[in-house]
Amino acid sequence: HLKSANGYAALNSDFDNFYVRRLKLRIDDCFARPITGVPGRYITLMDRKTEDYNRHYQFTGTYTETLNMSSYNYLGFAQSEGPCADAVEESIKKYGISAASPRADAGTSELAMEVEDKIAKFVGKPAAMVFSMGFATNATSFPALVGKGSLIISDELNHASIRIGARLSGAMITSFKHNDMQDLEEKLREVISQGQPRTHRPWKKILVVVEGLYSMEGTMCNLPGILKLKKRYKFNLFVDEAHSIGALGPRGRGVCDYFGIDPSEIDILMGTLTKSFGANGGYVAAEKHIIDKLRMTNAATIYGESPTPPVLMQILSALKIISGEMVPGQGEERLQRIAFNSRYLRLGLKRLGYIVYGHDDSPIIPIMLYNPAKMPAFSHEMLRRKISVVIVGYPATPLISSRARFCVSAAHNKDDMDRVLAACDEIGNVLQLKFSTGIAGGA
Ligand code: PMP
Repeated sequence: HLKSANGYAALNSDFDNFYVRRLKLRIDDCFARPITGVPGRYITLMDRKTEDYNRHYQFTGTYTETLNMSSYNYLGFAQSEGPCADAVEESIKKYGISAASPRADAGTSELAMEVEDKIAKFVGKPAAMVFSMGFATNATSFPALVGKGSLIISDELNHASIRIGARLSGAMITSFKHNDMQDLEEKLREVISQGQPRTHRPWKKILVVVEGLYSMEGTMCNLPGILKLKKRYKFNLFVDEAHSIGALGPRGRGVCDYFGIDPSEIDILMGTLTKSFGANGGYVAAEKHIIDKLRMTNAATIYGESPTPPVLMQILSALKIISGEMVPGQGEERLQRIAFNSRYLRLGLKRLGYIVYGHDDSPIIPIMLYNPAKMPAFSHEMLRRKISVVIVGYPATPLISSRARFCVSAAHNKDDMDRVLAACDEIGNVLQLKFSTGIAGGA
């Protein structure tokens, strides 16, 4: 192991040191680069000094505009013009910038209540509450929902905010293989009976936690399969819709909308407002008594600042546009564009011979690079063609499952998708990334 200057073992391992210096620093994605302007259809990245790629992030002060395949801007609401931006500007004049108080003190504005009402209706639940940060929504909700004596059964690929929230709750935690219904059922059998007769339940509550759409895999939760098990084993279900709300379903209302399932079958619908709504924060939607309890017991709203007025107005306007209330037809058009772009790009990449992960309708499209040494090469070649794409590798994925991840948006058009496909065609030949023989017809 490396030694630090004072002679103690360095906190970073040899491997981390190798990985960060030799690989991560050489990746030409938007990671750790200053950006300017709106992260919309295009993203403008500050250029790096190339002579010192091995050791530092150093910047030139000049910028390059690139096609943005890296932001979570599913419905194209990350923008500085148009009806949302106008409404936000007006709201600043009326309400100012800051709530200047936690929600539980003087931070409950009429705007916050209107947004909560709108979110509840949008996702199909009786009540909802908003948080000023998506991460904190999960990190502080679990401790308010379950505690010692309860059990959380979590998909192994659940987001860090879920894992942290679960740990903070004090509940026992176990996980099941990603999206594997057989493994979930086995876990349920194991934990419910624990060698006792089937009628014995050693847990106060059992909470199964999944995501609607997984951000590194592009996979969708098997909601019908989970609900079948829910009827049989009687647990509570928490679905994190950070990436699925707005992005999935004919009306953009997430996984329930996608599968045609009544939202009342799910106990807790959580989501973030950072992605499809171009805003900030998170929400939890559930029965009224659960939301009432959450309001009184979650640390983020008692000890933390309320969402700010401009952010609330952005959420409200985006919701109104998606549901067709503000600008007739625009919501539908955005939903159709993201659905088309997602399928078109995914199918095109498969036709080229790439190994593409995830569900056919997912706007998150990971292509496999496998070998970590191909990460800097792929990102460099994309950036040379002025396309910005996030490269994902260890520790977010296993070392040999390195990938590039395209995030499709309603802000893109078919020409943009063709541009990405043309770049991937050339780069795939050079880097030998066309692992499969391609497909003949459908995805
Ligand atoms: N849940 C999931 C599944 C996420 O992917 C993320 C962030 N990408 C969060 C919660 C946290 O949300 P935010 O970034 O809005 O804080």
